[in-house]
Amino acid sequence: MAKTIIISNRLPVQLQISNGDISAVPSVGGLATGMKSVHSGGDSLWIGWSGLTDEEIPEELIPKIDSALAEHGSSKVNLTEKEVDGFYYGFSNRTVWPLFHYFLEYSEFELDSWEIYKAVNQKFADAILAKADNEDTIWIHDYQLMLVPQMVRAERPDISIGFFLHIPFPSYEIFRTLPWRREVLQGLLGSDLIGFHTYDYERHFLSSVRRLLGLEVSFNDIYLDDRVIKVDSFPMGIDYKKFSDAAKEHSQRTEDEKSELQKRLDTHKKSAPDAKFFLSIDRLDYTKGIAKRLNAFEYFLKKYPQYKEKVRLIILAVPSRSNVPQYQLLKREVDELVGRINGELSTVSWTPIWYFYRSMPFDNLIDLYTSSDIAWLTPIRDGMNLVAKEYIATRTDKTGVLILSEMAGSANEMNESLLINPNNFEQIADSLFEAINMPEEEQISRNTLLQKRLERYNVEKWANDFMNSLVNQKEKDQTYR
Ligand code: UDP
Repeated sequence: MAKTIIISNRLPVQLQISNGDISAVPSVGGLATGMKSVHSGGDSLWIGWSGLTDEEIPEELIPKIDSALAEHGSSKVNLTEKEVDGFYYGFSNRTVWPLFHYFLEYSEFELDSWEIYKAVNQKFADAILAKADNEDTIWIHDYQLMLVPQMVRAERPDISIGFFLHIPFPSYEIFRTLPWRREVLQGLLGSDLIGFHTYDYERHFLSSVRRLLGLEVSFNDIYLDDRVIKVDSFPMGIDYKKFSDAAKEHSQRTEDEKSELQKRLDTHKKSAPDAKFFLSIDRLDYTKGIAKRLNAFEYFLKKYPQYKEKVRLIILAVPSRSNVPQYQLLKREVDELVGRINGELSTVSWTPIWYFYRSMPFDNLIDLYTSSDIAWLTPIRDGMNLVAKEYIATRTDKTGVLILSEMAGSANEMNESLLINPNNFEQIADSLFEAINMPEEEQISRNTLLQKRLERYNVEKWANDFMNSLVNQKEKDQTYR
């Protein structure tokens, strides 16, 4: 029977080793949830890295680990510490990530890490080739694995391959600075279908293909001598029901059932009923504009001093890639800014910023989403931004205002939010003012439209649309030949 093989850098399970015992716990991330409808039953396999390097896995435990992963339809690619350094922390996160998010000055072009990226991509391709039959469908995910499509194609010319990029694809003028730009494009062109979050990323990609490889591009088809490749946009959604159900359940909790965080949020609400909570949730990443947001918050309080003691900014910054130097610098910058602003503005009864540097369990995320009057998300660049969608999904009474950077992919589908340019402090301050004063009916009418759209185009629909498009493309390609 034909099967679907999903490949991503990380497997959708977390391995835990304690006293020689292994457990594999499914992770709850967006991709894992989104792929549920594709990765279920016995006819699919997920290939990826387990999160543990070869050095961390005692040899005698390997068979146990393999069978624990197999129970979750998963199979691991083994990586050494050196490979993870060069491939993941190196080329993926010090070259591609900053470059594709327009942080050209942060991009490092190191031949060594490129070589390791290539070798590790080959490892992933080999892992696929060891398991794949010709009639299988392969779905490869994200910027860590851009060479894998062509590596698989070279050995299996007829197999069906889809690739989805979860980050932006930059404009040609940025992409062309990459020394290995042609190799990356050629790697991707091993696919039958290449998906992006937005039409803009798709357009940028097609323009690079035309200008760097001189290939014939017609609408969103790329013509090779022997194949046609389709390029399309599939904006990723969320598990809408999971968020809206959780929020409904929250609203019915008794005092005893509430979390400590919720009780604390309630206490503050009660002590100042007309005070507003602003919320931002991001990984601590320079693309998210956290430092700019803190400066903009200070600017807002200068421009509209009547809101001193009347607003509170809750910042949840999730630790991320903390062994990459840029992330360490950012951590220091954010710590200092929060300290300085709180130091300068706090009063005996008011701390303007609540800063959490950690990740929170799902239940606490729902506490934050449902308790915040305004979600304020200001990425400088962001492939999609799912937090914006999750906030809207949890607003069961349809109140609440979303202020969102127009540089986030999700801004394309969320026109009813207050869209801002993250560099325009004047506009941001005015949007915060507008959000605080927005009549409830207007909040409800905006959120009604947003919710309908998010509910309809949920993550399951995203995955199914991509898979259907891949099947159609394969059939069309066979007619072309
Ligand atoms: N998230 C999480 N734990 C936290 C905070 C956030 O799992 O403590 C989740 C959040 O619910 C969202 C994801 O992390 O689904 C962040 O996705 P987004 O697209 O906004 O940004 P990314 O981190 O992928 O760049």
